[in-house]
Amino acid sequence: MAMTGLQIQKLLPGTNCKECGSNTCLAFAMKLAGKKAELSACPYASDEIKRVLGAASEPPVRVVELGPDKGLKLGGETVLYRHEKTFVHQTALGINLDDTEPAAEIDRKLAAIRDYVLVRVGETLRVDLVGVTQKSGSAEQFAAVAKKAFDVTGRPLVLRSTDPQALAAVAAAVKGSRSVLAAATPETALDLSRVAAENGHALAVTAPDLDALAAVAGQLRDAGFKDVVLQPQTFSEAERFQVNAIIRTLALKDNFKPFGSVSLRFIDDGDLLESTAAASTEIAKYGGICMLPHFDAAQLVTLMTLRLNLYTDPQKPIQVEPKVYPIGEPTATSPVFVTTNFSLTYFIVSGEIENSGTSAWLVVPECEGMSVLTAWAAGKFSGASIAKFIKGIGLEQQVQTREIVIPGYVAQISGELEENLPGWKVLVGPQEAGDLESFVKARLTPA
Ligand code: SF4
Repeated sequence: MAMTGLQIQKLLPGTNCKECGSNTCLAFAMKLAGKKAELSACPYASDEIKRVLGAASEPPVRVVELGPDKGLKLGGETVLYRHEKTFVHQTALGINLDDTEPAAEIDRKLAAIRDYVLVRVGETLRVDLVGVTQKSGSAEQFAAVAKKAFDVTGRPLVLRSTDPQALAAVAAAVKGSRSVLAAATPETALDLSRVAAENGHALAVTAPDLDALAAVAGQLRDAGFKDVVLQPQTFSEAERFQVNAIIRTLALKDNFKPFGSVSLRFIDDGDLLESTAAASTEIAKYGGICMLPHFDAAQLVTLMTLRLNLYTDPQKPIQVEPKVYPIGEPTATSPVFVTTNFSLTYFIVSGEIENSGTSAWLVVPECEGMSVLTAWAAGKFSGASIAKFIKGIGLEQQVQTREIVIPGYVAQISGELEENLPGWKVLVGPQEAGDLESFVKARLTPA
């Protein structure tokens, strides 16, 4: 929880020596509270204030970095609802397999996980993690499957066993993968935290209820082990929803440090519909890592799309680079369209032009990632600005076409565009991108 200036001032020396650049300790404290100064500017700051302010500046949900390159980041959240600010790191999705599955089946699953790619509004989405559950009773087999999973996919793993010795063996076998060991109990937590630390992994902890979970997570924190993942035990979707909300609320509102970690859930039961519903709960309500029971491409599209909707920052629209995009294989006489550089708009419009079977040029001027009407209202998508962009990129030298199709929602800019683009005829296209295909076929198909 953030400290006030007055609270910080009580911890400062109070000599008003001005060496920090402020006239008084109080003035410096106010700057610290507003994050406009660094504590290091005061040479007389005590160890006590360094400790207290350091803890106060930690994010309420600690960031955990997984994968050999630490590329999978989880946690760091500061708000309960996206509209308050933004969510920071999206729920990671993984596919679980067990070490008793036939080798050919394991190979098939690992290849599918490795090769799966979903490109959506310019984002390239992949499966984040691979789970390996020990069912064999053999530490060697568990470690061999885990090593293969990492070697084939390169993804961080979630390694699940109830046997601490098997977890120790697998931790060493995939050292360097920065994976998650799951799960330590109150009895095994301290020993397994040493194993996790030695091999560079995070450690999931579990306990029968939230009090016991807080106790074991707090115990590890006090012992100096920070990469804790919480694996609460729940027995229904309603309970899971409630528990996730309790953990996150306590972390954010009460700065309850034992719950300031991301969560882990294995979805083991249910048909495709039930596992999709359970994973959706995790994505919507504070899930950190969600392990799915099977590889199913259709399920992944559904879940990744939901996740993308929730975890994009509404204050920072996803943008595409302003330029002229070829759709299909356009020639110098192909039709020319214009739209804004808001990713969603670009991908919908380009997709619809593509669906029409016509090759074309799509002009995308800089509109700060706004949609058509918003950009027009903000003065970023006017006849003058589009004409200036077209001239600036040399489109008139690139194409012989002198007709340009504008979105139907901004029909009012057609006159201004023709004025600023002498020799061009402006055609007003449909309002909805879904009508582009019929528009192209009716108006633009060459005779
Ligand atoms: S340097 Fe430290 S002691 Fe001196 S005025 Fe600034 S805060 Fe106070």
